[in-house]
Amino acid sequence: MNQDRNQDQLHPFIFEQSAVRGNCVQLDQSLLTALEHQTLPPALKKVIGEFTAASVLLTATLKMQGKMILQLQSQGALQLLVVECTSQLNIRTTAKVGSELPGDQLTDWIKQGQLVITLMPEEGEPYQGIVPLEGDSIASMLENYMLRSQQIDTRLWLASDGERASGLLLQKLPQQQESDLDCWNRVQHLAGTVTDQELLNLDTVTLLQRLFVEEDVRLFSGREVLAFCSCSQTSVINMLQMLGVAEVRSIIEEQGSVQIQCDFCNKHYVVDEQEALGLFDEDDDHEVTH
Ligand SMILES: [Zn+2]
Repeated sequence: MNQDRNQDQLHPFIFEQSAVRGNCVQLDQSLLTALEHQTLPPALKKVIGEFTAASVLLTATLKMQGKMILQLQSQGALQLLVVECTSQLNIRTTAKVGSELPGDQLTDWIKQGQLVITLMPEEGEPYQGIVPLEGDSIASMLENYMLRSQQIDTRLWLASDGERASGLLLQKLPQQQESDLDCWNRVQHLAGTVTDQELLNLDTVTLLQRLFVEEDVRLFSGREVLAFCSCSQTSVINMLQMLGVAEVRSIIEEQGSVQIQCDFCNKHYVVDEQEALGLFDEDDDHEVTH
């Protein structure tokens, strides 16, 4: 591991006198922890790493308190990939693979895919955007989404080796006063020279200096990124209540108790018969029928 990296940190920055802002992120332990309970092929871990870096970069551009859920759904070998990032920059991720993954590229694994982006604010209504997958990389898929659904010019550069991930985001803020009108074109071009090795190995200050040596960049202090799963016994109980008494009874009859494994962190939850059926006491008698 390179000691120079800013491990598990997100750094916002701006270009002075322009409407262009950016974020830079490096994920080390947070990515390892988010993936540690899942047995996935290395090529998929690499894709998840890039997806996770992208979700942290995009979440950090939002003013909202809450979370962003990125989902890639497809009819191909990769059925589902989910990355969640909260406004506190807590991440969790999971993937569902139907059959063995052919090839080692994301485009080999997805068929009739779509990208679902859900914003769940702590207060107010959730917002969901669904777009067909366009582009041959995660970065271009998300750039297309941001332009199409949010009308925000966004550029992303992502790199991962399956154990670490890094990313750089540039955004041109609409309707903002700027005196440096050419900035957006210029810095996109400069950022486009970045290599995966630079993204993965350089600390943020060195990276930005190398890419934007003649630009007036103001770097803000870093924010920590942590792997954290929000699952709990309470969320399991809530889910059972939503399933309804008939469904819960049939699970109990089959298995004796309700056992649930979290898709993200693998934590095992058990709700015994008495507790499970007790949830429905008010509107139902709790006699188990056979
Ligand atoms: Zn969990």
